[in-house]
Amino acid sequence: MVEIRDLHKSFGQLEVLKGIDFTVDRGQVICVIGPSGSGKSTLLRCVNTLETPTRGTVVVEGIELTDPDVDINAARRRVGMVFQQFNLFPHLCVLDNVAIAQRRVLKRSKAEAEKIAQANLERVGLSDKVRSYPAQLSGGQQQRAAIARALAMEPTLMLFDEPTSALDPELVGDVLSVMRQLADEGMTMLVVTHEMAFARDVADRVVFMDQGVIVEEGPAEQVIGDPQEERTRVFLRRVL
Ligand code: ATP
Ligand code: MG
Repeated sequence: MVEIRDLHKSFGQLEVLKGIDFTVDRGQVICVIGPSGSGKSTLLRCVNTLETPTRGTVVVEGIELTDPDVDINAARRRVGMVFQQFNLFPHLCVLDNVAIAQRRVLKRSKAEAEKIAQANLERVGLSDKVRSYPAQLSGGQQQRAAIARALAMEPTLMLFDEPTSALDPELVGDVLSVMRQLADEGMTMLVVTHEMAFARDVADRVVFMDQGVIVEEGPAEQVIGDPQEERTRVFLRRVL
């Protein structure tokens, strides 16, 4: 489903990813953990083609994203991304926020886009907020609207970059339970998170990154519960 081989990314002299290899199988949930600056967001951005790797390959569903001949927009459409900041349009109501990319990118009619928006807002528990504006919603509701927006594009892979880090603690649970539900439905997910309980319960595998390399990876109970590497232990002592 996702195959990352020897992925390198530098910004000028700064080598941020120093050879990352891993795969995500269909329906799997992979959580990526690691200290600030270790390259987690850059990794996700390479998978989403927001960044161009310096070296190495990223293959999503058999499409090599780094191939210059590939239709990057077609490939990108299959990958949904949810950020720490929700990036909703403040001047559009929730329904329009979820409908707009469907209309612009997928060329769906207004009626169809709104129908699909409604269905996905229901999926994230926001059917009663379709006419609200982002400023009228809690952070957790805004993030769920952002998830609905990504889902409305019918992605085969969802990327989450610290989706709950900007939320007040009491709002984190609602967003995590929507993500948990998606995982149960079989969505393939690559999730950067500091929520260790979520990683432990939901992830098929946990990847621990530090300074641009994967230090340790394996089943959640192993990496979080019984880490083999000192760097992983030091990190977990700080976040657990
Ligand atoms: P955090 O947990 O704080 O989100 P992260 O693991 O997501 O950290 P990245 O955002 O991937 O880390 O950043 C890794 C390194 O790359 C940092 O040193 C950062 O300053 C640098 N970096 C990221 N994007 C750019 C860019 N566009 N230009 C220059 N340097 C960048
Ligand atoms: Mg980051």
